[in-house]
Amino acid sequence: MALDLGGRSVPMTVRRSHRARRIHLRIDTVDAAIELILPRWAGLAQGLDFARVNRQWLMQRLADLPERTPFADGATLPVHGEMLTIRHDRARRGPAERIGELLAVGGDHAHLPRRVRDWLKAEARRGFAESAFALAQRIGRKPGLIRLTDPRTRWGSCSPDGSIALSWRLVLAPPEVARYVIAHEVAHLAELNHGRRFWQIVAELVGDHAEARAWLRRNGARLLRYG
Ligand SMILES: [Zn+2]
Repeated sequence: MALDLGGRSVPMTVRRSHRARRIHLRIDTVDAAIELILPRWAGLAQGLDFARVNRQWLMQRLADLPERTPFADGATLPVHGEMLTIRHDRARRGPAERIGELLAVGGDHAHLPRRVRDWLKAEARRGFAESAFALAQRIGRKPGLIRLTDPRTRWGSCSPDGSIALSWRLVLAPPEVARYVIAHEVAHLAELNHGRRFWQIVAELVGDHAEARAWLRRNGARLLRYG
């Protein structure tokens, strides 16, 4: 469904939550869409009223979203902290390839975004797995499976079985920010909590990480607006 905001129709999804105590509104950063979360006691009509009452807040939040950077010819991407420009050449064969400051992508126009994403994921996998193993070795641990994911609300996670999931979008963050997230998940191999000992391990691995965390708070939404 959609919500009319000052003459503009904005996509909205409605979700029931058993845990929610009150009606919530969220902005989906990736799709620039609204999410309406209803607790058990609320009806749809009540939810829609709530959304209308909060129209100004929604419009402001949507206006505050960072500019979208589609994966298209000429777009520039900060990969591991270096600016690369996408160069689409239909006639080109084979997978995307970095050539100096260019990311050369071949094939049909329709497949361009997927090809760029695949290349970024492969870049992320290469760099992040190496980094995770090296960091884990320093605390005498070994990560299990390392997966590249695309979550919207977190950058990484670590399961009790030692497998680590990392957002491939971190390849578009400054390298020290990606390194902090990897160290954070690696530290969970030793401490599955956010206690004092856990933060000590993170600090042992990457030193001061306040800036990396602040960067993610300030710029995380921008990472979600690529592609
Ligand atoms: Zn954590």
